[in-house]
Amino acid sequence: MPTEFELIERYFHRAAPREDVVLGVGDDAALLRPPPGQALALTVDTLVAGVHFPEQTPPEAVGHKALAVNLSDLAAMGARPAWVTLALTLPRADEAWLEGFARGFMELLAAHGAALVGGDTTRGPLSVSVQACGFVPEGQALRRDGARPGDLIYVTGTLGDAALGLAALSGEQVLGPAEADHCLARLDRPEPRVAAGLALRGLATAAIDISDGLVADLGHVLAASGAGAVVELQALPLSPAVRRAVERGGDWSPAVAGGDDYELLFTVPEARRAEVAEALAGRGGASCIGRIEAAPGLRLLDGEGRAVRPARAGWDHFAEGDL
Ligand code: ADP
Ligand code: MG
Repeated sequence: MPTEFELIERYFHRAAPREDVVLGVGDDAALLRPPPGQALALTVDTLVAGVHFPEQTPPEAVGHKALAVNLSDLAAMGARPAWVTLALTLPRADEAWLEGFARGFMELLAAHGAALVGGDTTRGPLSVSVQACGFVPEGQALRRDGARPGDLIYVTGTLGDAALGLAALSGEQVLGPAEADHCLARLDRPEPRVAAGLALRGLATAAIDISDGLVADLGHVLAASGAGAVVELQALPLSPAVRRAVERGGDWSPAVAGGDDYELLFTVPEARRAEVAEALAGRGGASCIGRIEAAPGLRLLDGEGRAVRPARAGWDHFAEGDL
């Protein structure tokens, strides 16, 4: 049975590929050299088996996702990922599991040029905490509180795929094989929109990553910005699988109320509309889905301009009285 130290040495002790890491894994604490003139963006997220991912999730996907959700938070701030720590709680020293986990984690880490600089390893029910640190020039971070009436609202990628994948796993939704593959890949291997976040510095007035569904996360932007919004449901970017689920159920919930999308939602002054396509060309693009308004609350409109209230979207974010 390998010891804790042997496991760390084997799977997580890689040469840090960054000059700003003075001392990485192996001492009592990491020593890091923060860049002058930049703010540090710092975030932490914990994934608990059976709560944040199904117990049967492949270890490689757990490793990928535990890091991806944190890089997504950095993306939403317009920060460039740099340093990461990893606190792992494992029921047993299962080397096959650790090998897969480390592969998923380290591949995504390398793809973003970030370094694992430390962590903690303990025994207990499976849970993974990742802390990620990134840099953003002072004053250029993308915050939730900058949306202004008249700004256009955009989202990257497509919405609802991951939640539909989860519903398929539990038997709540029946998907064709190709749809199931697509939705499960989106659930297990979200791609954090880091390049988009960086490109939106100096352009977006507000940003957030969509982790709890469009309605909930747009609601956070509206609350922080002291504004309301109208969203045209017909303009939502949906995969064929989610579009079919919406049509089948006669309800927009699969598109607007599912979690785990890890797409970016951001706002841009209308006069700068052309710059969005330019900034995001080759970075996946984005779809304009609505507009910020002064009147508080969120108004979702269907193709005929009628107000819609999805069954699962939660009530608190909607405009008082007008739905
Ligand atoms: P301490 O008891 O001083 O906190 P640990 O035994 O917890 O030290 O860890 C030894 C070294 O290994 C530290 O540098 C720590 O950052 C690193 N480490 C422990 N667990 C992990 C992990 N899961 N991933 C990366 N580094 C880790
Ligand atoms: Mg420790």
